[in-house]
Amino acid sequence: MTDTSLRTSVLATVDRFCREHVQPAIADMERTADFPYELYRQAGELGLFRIDVPEEFGGIGMDHVLPLLAAERIARTSPAFAVTFANCADVLTPIIAKAAPHIAQSIVPQVAEGSKIPCISMSEPLAGSDVSAMRTRATKVDGGYRLNGRKMWCTNGSVGDVFVVFAKTDPDAGSRGISAFLVEYGVAGFERGRDEPLTGLRGNPTSELVFDDVFVPETHRLGAENEGFKIAMLTLDSARLNAAGMALGTATAALEIARIYALQRQQFGKPIFQHQGLQFLIAELAAEIEMSKAVWLKGLDALGRGDAKETTALASVAKLLCTEMAVRVTTECVQIMGANGLSKENSAERLMRDSRAFQIFDGTPQIQRLLIARHLVRDGLMIF
Ligand SMILES: Cc1cc2nc3c(=O)[nH]c(=O)nc-3n(C[C@H](O)[C@H](O)[C@H](O)COP(=O)(O)OP(=O)(O)OC[C@H]3O[C@@H](n4cnc5c(N)ncnc54)[C@H](O)[C@@H]3O)c2cc1C
Repeated sequence: MTDTSLRTSVLATVDRFCREHVQPAIADMERTADFPYELYRQAGELGLFRIDVPEEFGGIGMDHVLPLLAAERIARTSPAFAVTFANCADVLTPIIAKAAPHIAQSIVPQVAEGSKIPCISMSEPLAGSDVSAMRTRATKVDGGYRLNGRKMWCTNGSVGDVFVVFAKTDPDAGSRGISAFLVEYGVAGFERGRDEPLTGLRGNPTSELVFDDVFVPETHRLGAENEGFKIAMLTLDSARLNAAGMALGTATAALEIARIYALQRQQFGKPIFQHQGLQFLIAELAAEIEMSKAVWLKGLDALGRGDAKETTALASVAKLLCTEMAVRVTTECVQIMGANGLSKENSAERLMRDSRAFQIFDGTPQIQRLLIARHLVRDGLMIF
């Protein structure tokens, strides 16, 4: 098979998985907010967590762009499960790049087959956008470190098995005093705390983690001491493109629901789509989706070519445009559907709730504007 036909075949598998397994699981996820273990197992069985994992770790070894295309497709059905899926690749990147080979070999294959759920934990009650304000400490002791602190908003935290945890090893050095560690659930002193009762993404828990004198062997540090911020950056570009893509998928799904509704719903003797006020709105929303998608695809192209500077700049632009667009599009789609748009029996309302989180994690719109401005000062306009 050529790369293109393999890619097409993987995406067709993803679409089939969404139709046959994700769609039927949504009602339960919405009702209970429980993590969909069975869906996760099925995704693992299909090989969806192995797509870009190197073959030496039991993966398929395809390019890093493909999982992002897959996450966009999954978000068209369930943004919540898309986040669970995308988080897996976001966590594996620093482990594969920076874990000691024997440690990576003991963890990555199990994550790739779906038998271990990975998480990444940086944020804290007092350190969100400003990660350098984190207070979790890793204190050097004989053979390793003692970890103490409290983390917040960890995706899949309450169901996670393997955690990339960031902590201060040099508290006076700001972002240059952070190190990254691998912590497995079950070690003494580590507790998975409560799930935050957030709006949207039901079935994708966002949780507190507590570290009370947790011993982490030196072998479980990722990279060098105080290299944590750089390690976080390794995954941030693709994580931002992932968030942008999932926002895009969410908006696309909402507009398709609203388009079909507007063609069927009659008011004043004709389908509401035929009223120009609404028709122009729907046309504008479609145009906004296409515009955002063009930037996202440009970012994916840069990621695929391995152009780090271009990827970083475009990841911020795509994250900003796609996530703001998704909130507007999904909100307008609810409006197009009137009272039925607000009904929990239609997916538009769920997609509107789900779209909100994409603006918060992996850097808010304000932070993306700040990063884009920094790029403009340092490197000039983005003429790629
Ligand atoms: C669903 C979900 C999943 C998440 N998953 C994870 C995860 O897996 N791991 C993890 O570590 N974290 C995770 N997070 C946390 C997320 O990364 C933070 O919420 C995010 O970084 C923002 O931090 P904050 O919520 O503390 O907001 P704050 O940083 O307190 O920001 C509050 C407001 O102030 C604005 N603001 C802050 N600084 C500036 C500035 N310099 N200029 C202008 N405006 C500013 C922000 O844009 C925002 O509007 C998740 C969050 C959510 C909602």
